[in-house]
Amino acid sequence: MKTLAKETIEALQSTLRGEFIQPADPGYDQARTLWNAMVDRRPAAIAHCSGVADVVHSVEIAKQHNLLLSVRSGGHNIAGNALCDGGLAIDLSGMKSVHIDPLTRRAYVEPGATLGDFDHEAQLFGLATPLGINSTTGVAGLTLGGGFGWLTRKYGMTVDNLMSVEIVTADGKRLWANAEQNADLFWAVRGGGGNFGIVTLFDFKLHPVGPEVMSGLIVYPFEQAKSVLHQYREYVKTIPDELSVWAVLRKAPPLPFLPEEAHGSEVVIFAFMHAGDIEEGKRLVDPVRHFGKPVGEHIGANPFTAWQQGFDPLLTPGARNYWKSHNFAELGDEAVDTVIEYAGKLPSPQCEIFIALLGGEANRVAADATAYAHRDVNFVLNVHGRWDDAEQDEACISWSRDFFDAATPYAMGGVYVNFMTEEETDRIGSAYGPNYDRLAAVKQKYDPHNLFHLNQNIKPQE
Ligand SMILES: Cc1cc2nc3c(=O)[nH]c(=O)nc-3n(C[C@H](O)[C@H](O)[C@H](O)COP(=O)(O)OP(=O)(O)OC[C@H]3O[C@@H](n4cnc5c(N)ncnc54)[C@H](O)[C@@H]3O)c2cc1C
Repeated sequence: MKTLAKETIEALQSTLRGEFIQPADPGYDQARTLWNAMVDRRPAAIAHCSGVADVVHSVEIAKQHNLLLSVRSGGHNIAGNALCDGGLAIDLSGMKSVHIDPLTRRAYVEPGATLGDFDHEAQLFGLATPLGINSTTGVAGLTLGGGFGWLTRKYGMTVDNLMSVEIVTADGKRLWANAEQNADLFWAVRGGGGNFGIVTLFDFKLHPVGPEVMSGLIVYPFEQAKSVLHQYREYVKTIPDELSVWAVLRKAPPLPFLPEEAHGSEVVIFAFMHAGDIEEGKRLVDPVRHFGKPVGEHIGANPFTAWQQGFDPLLTPGARNYWKSHNFAELGDEAVDTVIEYAGKLPSPQCEIFIALLGGEANRVAADATAYAHRDVNFVLNVHGRWDDAEQDEACISWSRDFFDAATPYAMGGVYVNFMTEEETDRIGSAYGPNYDRLAAVKQKYDPHNLFHLNQNIKPQE
């Protein structure tokens, strides 16, 4: 493995307030562990930053010593670009502060905070902003790619709720970017991934949510999949923005409300949350109970923070993961048939097909208002290849790729940047869509030598 020169190590050691970790240190393996166990990268050094000064100094030293640089916040990204092989990994996971101002309804969030950290603090005041569905995901990476979850139809993408960022750019400057200052940079960070600098503080607007929300699961046997999915795609056209209903096809986990004989069998799970009145939510979701004959259901008022962790047991860190993703405007008959075909041959009990519902407020924003361009997407379809044993790599990766290929003719062509694997460099144009050229111009202005290139990379405009 490439090691750092003695003077580089000394420069980093003498300047960091946070911990400096090298391969021989006892904490090294822990520090290079990401959510996806498929990623096995070995940085020559890891700079655990304690604050903005550590970030600025790390960037300066990386530039002076010509080091490969990666940036890690929550460590959740499937592609594993948070770590580099042989260079300097800037690790922000220790910068976790979440400060809520309930009077102005704003959240000031450091990049190491997870969605769970955010909700924990914001819900003290009955407040929230749209984030994702797995509480261990990092706020930073999720936000920089766009961000969506249960509140997105009501309040927009995560980036639509971002008001300002503090960012360290490639020249080692610490800037603010918002509607008034460095507005081009602010536009670019709202969907352009980690291409433009290292964000050290996020400022979000907040909305009253909870503390309890109507939420839950309605589970159908796989034999009814075609009928219930056909009804689902029509039903979601009729529901208000407050309600989100997602579909998951997988083998049934041992949920307490399911009969034991259903555990491990293929099922269609409708998962939902209503960001409004509890009784109204129950009334609105009632048609889903009558799509067919459910094998089980759990519907009711749950704490918002608990619902935000509802999928955590299925998405724990440490498994091997290979994901692919498509955007859809409509779920046509062929798309539904393809979903059912591949859900019928899951190669491992953890593999699943996820259909997230977007639309609502997320789609009322112009495609060029933020760098996140996909404002015409109604469904994001994810194939989650997920397993534990490396011997299953081949079977699970092939299944994911085959399903992805089979679904391609019915998809829109665009892709959500946060769900791309490392190998999908041919889809970069599809990820940034019509905003690519403008992003490349901003990249040229703020990072002309592409220091920040371990990401779904935007090349500086020539
Ligand atoms: C189980 C699971 C569930 C998910 N659910 C959702 C969901 O519901 N909704 C959704 O929108 N997405 C979801 N995602 C995708 C998620 O948004 C991305 O994986 C995201 O990149 C995670 O952010 P992170 O900070 O944890 O990642 P990291 O791996 O730490 O970072 C990812 C990349 O972002 C960049 N980056 C990170 N921090 C910074 C920073 N401070 N400044 C500049 N660049 C930075 C770097 O390029 C880095 O490689 C999910 C992912 C997983 C694995």
